[in-house]
Amino acid sequence: MSDIKMVEAPKGLTGEGFFATTLDQVVGLARSKSMWPLPFATSCCGIEFMATMASTYDLGRFGSERLSFSPRQADMLMVMGTISKKMGPILRQVYEQMAEPRWVIAVGACASSGGVFDTYSVLQGIDKVIPVDVYVPGCPPRPEQILEGIMHLQKLVETESFNRRDTPEYKALMASYGININ
Ligand code: SF4
Repeated sequence: MSDIKMVEAPKGLTGEGFFATTLDQVVGLARSKSMWPLPFATSCCGIEFMATMASTYDLGRFGSERLSFSPRQADMLMVMGTISKKMGPILRQVYEQMAEPRWVIAVGACASSGGVFDTYSVLQGIDKVIPVDVYVPGCPPRPEQILEGIMHLQKLVETESFNRRDTPEYKALMASYGININ
């Protein structure tokens, strides 16, 4: 028996033979259900991501089974693992190479805050070099937590302006990181 559930339609006006809604909501819905991840996995948290992709948890159920190892064909950067200070500029370069719109999930304690590695060589959170949309706690987080992080991001994407690149908030955020979006 088929157990396929359709996503809920966005808010709008329904009548006989028509449905009307806003462009923001349609684009947001489409984007949120087809996020393409770029897995930037440097250590143990990456293994949890592998489990998240595999059959039991099956990230494909969320429209994100298509991984991209090219930043230009990805819109969801997932940073998983300890990021050394030397790796910081490389991570930033990867982020800058992603096309707009782009979102970032810091998966696990190391990516979020440096984790237990409060040392001279480890970046104390990737938000020191790139903006982060969702933080997933845990050392390591279980696949369920990673999925929950992705669902939080989906909600954010669904409710954002489809043209967020031109919003003053986004411009100010990018400027605070010294990232040129023009
Ligand atoms: S948060 Fe824990 S499990 Fe994840 S990369 Fe750091 S040390 Fe490894």
